[in-house]
Amino acid sequence: AASDHDPRSTATRGWALHQAAAELLPGGVNSATRYVGHPYAFGGGDGAYVVDLDGNRYLDYHAAFGAILLGHNSPIVDDPVRAAVGTVDLFGLGVTELEVELAKRVTEAIPSAEMMIATMSGSEATAQAVRLARAATGRSLLVKFQGGFHGWHDAVARNVISRPELAYGRDPLSAGILDHVLDATLVAEFNDLDSVRALFEQYPERIAAVIMEPIPHNVGALVPAQEFVEGLRELTHDEGAVLIFDEVITGFRHSLGGYQEVVGVMPDLTTFGKGMANGYPIGGLAGPRSLMERFDGQKGDVLLAGTFNGYTLGATAAIATIDHLRAHPEFYTRTHALGARIRDGLTSIVTELGIEATVAGFGGVFSLYFAAGPIRGYRDLMRNDDQAYAAFHRRMTDKGFLMIPMSLKRNHVSGSHTDEDVDRTLEAARDVLAGMKA
Ligand code: PLP
Repeated sequence: AASDHDPRSTATRGWALHQAAAELLPGGVNSATRYVGHPYAFGGGDGAYVVDLDGNRYLDYHAAFGAILLGHNSPIVDDPVRAAVGTVDLFGLGVTELEVELAKRVTEAIPSAEMMIATMSGSEATAQAVRLARAATGRSLLVKFQGGFHGWHDAVARNVISRPELAYGRDPLSAGILDHVLDATLVAEFNDLDSVRALFEQYPERIAAVIMEPIPHNVGALVPAQEFVEGLRELTHDEGAVLIFDEVITGFRHSLGGYQEVVGVMPDLTTFGKGMANGYPIGGLAGPRSLMERFDGQKGDVLLAGTFNGYTLGATAAIATIDHLRAHPEFYTRTHALGARIRDGLTSIVTELGIEATVAGFGGVFSLYFAAGPIRGYRDLMRNDDQAYAAFHRRMTDKGFLMIPMSLKRNHVSGSHTDEDVDRTLEAARDVLAGMKA
């Protein structure tokens, strides 16, 4: 374990690589959240662990933002991918057996899915979902929740982690988004059905869809009240709007059928990606035939295009991952038990130490908020002490435990984590939190 290295030293290969990267890549990275103050540079991974360029080993709960589900370099997925290289290819014409096999797996797994389209990423999936909803309803407005993240495209790129003065207002994630596009997205409060109802009242027959992460993991883990999800289903149905569950994180991770299977409420459209191919790029959108057929190039009216859609190695990896999950339901009992064990352990530690913190999560996912509970919606998260989280994160990293650096995010247990890993994590967290308290 990496317990005695100094990850902030400048005399490392990681630092040198970041210096070189800064000349060639904006901010030295290919996705802005990969650099938040510390020059991480990894060279490999194995199961629950990753190793940086300087040979330090970390127990990984970051999981590439959740794209790693079974573990790093898992032979369950890598072996079939290796076998597929050189045997499958890209044609750009017709369909391959692989794509049909993938669609069978996905529509069997996701309860509300009758048909699917495969994309290369989660963002493409949510972009298609929003466009399809607009086409199907002939309406333009979209409702999202403060704190929800659905990818980088314009329709959804606002009001994720907002400073208190910008929350619920106009908080774009990026410059360069047209004002009227930003304004076509309305922002509600998670777990507050009245906030959604109010928007439907304010904009009668103008809202095309409500998009939600069933558990907003992009702000940790706001677990939805059952009545909230049921109420949203009823409301959107009554109002003639499309309900989109963005299961890019929750899908395949919390249950083979996604969080919709857990909560027993069916959306109209479901997006997925990330963990379903254990690190290989893929995303997708699924729903009922009546909606999905609008993508039919012969009789539909919504454009479905993408040179790499149904990408062979992504599809191979997704099939292998889904087949493994189906054959090994104990993946879910194990990861859920490990997640519960971490959450219970952290809760005891902060209670014993008298630290104002709330542990949240579901299944194998856990978050530590430095704020008193209960934490139900974004409003409660504005009390979070970001500095305390930064200190916790830094000290855990120093001890060889890798978590998502940003406050208000989540951590993931993979199929490769063990009881012993969790015990070590709790031991380290106790040390760190006691040190912070001192
Ligand atoms: N939806 C959710 C819930 C996500 O967390 C993400 C990525 O973090 C996306 C969509 C976008 O997926 P991608 O990064 O694959 O485009």
